[in-house]
Amino acid sequence: MTPYERCLIPLPAHTSWDGKPFSFGGEVPCYVKSLPDAHTSTLLEELWYNFTMNGSTLRFRERPGIDDWQMKIGNGTVPNLPDGEDYALSVTENGVGITGGSREGMLRGLFTLMQLIRANDLRPGQESLHIPGTSITDHPALKFRCLHLCVFPETTLPFLHKIVRLAGFLKFSHIVLEFWGMLRYDCLAELSWPRAYTKNQIRPIIADARSMGMEVIPMINHLGHASASRACYGRHVVLDQNPRLATLFEPDGWTWCLSNPETLALLRTMRKELMELCGPGSWFHIGCDEAYSFATCDKCSAGDSRELLLNYLNNLTEELAKEGRRPIMWGDMLLDSEAWAPPIIAVSRPHQRTHEILDRLDRRMMIADWQYSITEPKVASTEHFIAHGFDTVTCPWQGDGNIFALGQAAAESGAFGFMPTTWHTLPDNIRLMPSASEAGWCGKRTRDLYDDFITQLANFQRKVYPSHSDYLQSGFRRLEVIE
Ligand SMILES: [Zn+2]
Repeated sequence: MTPYERCLIPLPAHTSWDGKPFSFGGEVPCYVKSLPDAHTSTLLEELWYNFTMNGSTLRFRERPGIDDWQMKIGNGTVPNLPDGEDYALSVTENGVGITGGSREGMLRGLFTLMQLIRANDLRPGQESLHIPGTSITDHPALKFRCLHLCVFPETTLPFLHKIVRLAGFLKFSHIVLEFWGMLRYDCLAELSWPRAYTKNQIRPIIADARSMGMEVIPMINHLGHASASRACYGRHVVLDQNPRLATLFEPDGWTWCLSNPETLALLRTMRKELMELCGPGSWFHIGCDEAYSFATCDKCSAGDSRELLLNYLNNLTEELAKEGRRPIMWGDMLLDSEAWAPPIIAVSRPHQRTHEILDRLDRRMMIADWQYSITEPKVASTEHFIAHGFDTVTCPWQGDGNIFALGQAAAESGAFGFMPTTWHTLPDNIRLMPSASEAGWCGKRTRDLYDDFITQLANFQRKVYPSHSDYLQSGFRRLEVIE
């Protein structure tokens, strides 16, 4: 692995490093067929400025003879795109050429390029930088690479903004945004804490995600986790503010009551609001994990609870299909806790037997199989879901071992994709973000040592979202010492 390759996250599929570097100075033209939309061109010009250490500005210009999803910097030559590749990148002494197979591919080529920029002289008026001569063709092992992100009351907007930009820069194709009582809905004030963000505060972050080539997948927990708070600390965003809304839930408040038409109507309105906020897309994450108290109220427990759940999920699938979307649900309630042994995690308990609905569940449902204890690249539960005809994504959490095992398992088992989760541990596990990027893009480990991932990620984050001298916004957590 060359020093240049060590700096690239994720490592591209094919690289060669012949030829002379492209040298440039304080201003560089970037030629395209037609200008990107205003938000995208502003963002990409800002990223170029930041990745040239404030030493160079990029200016988009339209020029005939350039195709869609191509960019040309200086007098570079746009490369041909071989079949099956996501983008091709060429750097010669004359300039840079990028050809993407799509808008997103072109952007990913640009993000690879930005990782290679080196400075020679940054004194004002004497700016001199270079990019090594190279030709790169690249494609992902898994087309669907989705980072699941949570917005907690402690998640600041700058932190969220930084992580979303980093996700795009590290070539994730999708992000899931799960608000833990932290988005103000129009339909019901008690769905969020008084400190929650407004839609207008979230919109610029979503706009950046989309400008960087990612689809933003809205997420609302449609079964368990209805408290929008972690079970271990006992908060309930709705019932702590208004106990009279208790009939929306099962008696303990943890799970939505599926027999209450008002619950179904509320969730429908929430979906509509969130889809509008997140913008066009093909997916909606409906959660549905750890629904311990499902069917415990008098109504839900009186009938056949499995029929209740099955109809609920299949109706949801049908409703979302009318919006051009497919649901994604966590897989744990569809795995029989009596049939699966560790390291597989299965949460369909003997008194619920929710796994029995699997055969009759609409195959448009995508299963997100979170398996946090697996460190070998084989996930039997994912293979089980695939064998039952479901598109399935593997979902790791903490630790390089779990992340790379599930990335490789997804690539080797024909899974639909890969969805690393981050939960409340993201600031302390931030080193795993590049690992997750590389596991999904490369589908395997590419290097023996990952100890420079943290310093390289630090380098990227101060450029994708500069702190502008604000101590609390710099880096990945607010405090150097935990008090
Ligand atoms: Zn109920």
